[in-house]
Amino acid sequence: MQALYMNDSYLKEFSAVVVRVDGKYVVLDRTAFYPNSGGQPHDSGKLISGGEEYNVVYVAKIDGVISHEVDKQGLKVGDSVRGIIDWDRRYTLMRMHTAAHLLSAVFHKEAGALITGNQLNVDQSRIDFSLENFDRSRIAEYVRTANGIIKKELPVAVRFIRKENMTGDLIKLAGVLPPDADEIRLVDIAGIDVQADGGTHVKNTAEVGEIEIVKMENKGKSNRRIYFTVK
Ligand SMILES: [Zn+2]
Repeated sequence: MQALYMNDSYLKEFSAVVVRVDGKYVVLDRTAFYPNSGGQPHDSGKLISGGEEYNVVYVAKIDGVISHEVDKQGLKVGDSVRGIIDWDRRYTLMRMHTAAHLLSAVFHKEAGALITGNQLNVDQSRIDFSLENFDRSRIAEYVRTANGIIKKELPVAVRFIRKENMTGDLIKLAGVLPPDADEIRLVDIAGIDVQADGGTHVKNTAEVGEIEIVKMENKGKSNRRIYFTVK
């Protein structure tokens, strides 16, 4: 099974063949549908086959295989399908994802903050991080810094690197790899932020727009949370 979004985040439509069906759960030989993972929610959209439309309501990776949950039964193994991604939803999530990487990089660089979690969504996304001082004006300043980077219209590159070719800072990224994987996918925002990542991103920071803080929360000790959106 080929995960087409790994190489091309901008693929909105594709053709594929059904290789497995279990009730409303469908596996294809290739897909552009992103499964729920790494804090990025699944895509929605539809599969079309023989004039019938099946809405894709949930997508998850189960035992390493991407499974599409559709709203009705009827697809059979061997059927050819046309897949269409709900692009508005996906593109917003791509902008949110690149924004989250930029914020993480700035929080880390400016304040030494460690990112402890994140959850993207269409309306607002959140980042959890550990930071000693909870100074709202400082955090607002970091977000302005991130917006300054966005305005520079920097390229966001996705590339694959073999484990044995990792040097310097990249070595620590190898730790997130499953032990049997020999290649890692890197998302590189013009060298400002390089992460091992399976998510979908915009190809230029300008596409993020402007990051806006929705709210900040003090979760006690040194746990902080911000909710943000992109305009
Ligand atoms: Zn990511």
